[in-house]
Amino acid sequence: MTHRQLQETTLVVASHNPGKVREIAELVRGRGVGVVSAGELGLDEPEETGATFAENALLKARAAADASGKVALADDSGLAVEALGGAPGIYSARWAGPQKDFSQAMQRVEHELSEIGAVSADARAARFVCALCIAWPDGHHEIFEGEVRGHLVWPPRGEHGFGYDPVFVATGRQLTFGEMAPEEKHEMSHRADAFAKLTEDCLGHD
Ligand code: IMP
Repeated sequence: MTHRQLQETTLVVASHNPGKVREIAELVRGRGVGVVSAGELGLDEPEETGATFAENALLKARAAADASGKVALADDSGLAVEALGGAPGIYSARWAGPQKDFSQAMQRVEHELSEIGAVSADARAARFVCALCIAWPDGHHEIFEGEVRGHLVWPPRGEHGFGYDPVFVATGRQLTFGEMAPEEKHEMSHRADAFAKLTEDCLGHD
């Protein structure tokens, strides 16, 4: 399949989440692409009515590309806990409530895992999933998906990252994503995985 190459030097990042915007800026840095966020442009956040990460990424990228007339990149991502049937999944942000309180969201996950007696790392298996969508103003789009597998720990550890990072340990690692320096997280994260595919297909080879 032929993928459309990104010619622009500035991408609109269709997110109002500062943690995500920062990580995306770090991931495209060095590729000659700068980012401006939907928040900075004063664009509205569309309702995330999709049933999958990919559908929600497309919804957000399309809305930002249409509203700005520029190429837009959206990330829809979340934590899928195996023993909870993939929850919180596409509802990962909503579990933090209107105050976007992720200590509350992590506590809810922990509460549900403790209710089913999930103690071992195997019983606490989880993955982060990321769908990235680039949408062009002419209606074209490309979607890339990435993931990182691991397990959940309690209590939360570390001040880096955002969201559920303090409770997630990637397979074969000891530190949570919250304890890792950003560069280390970027070597293995779901977002970096999806980004590597996007880079390969739409930004040419390194
Ligand atoms: P949305 O994609 O904006 O609907 O929200 C995704 C939510 O998933 C974020 O608000 C975080 O709670 C969570 N999430 C996604 N990626 C990460 C990550 O890299 N670390 C920690 N939490 C994440």
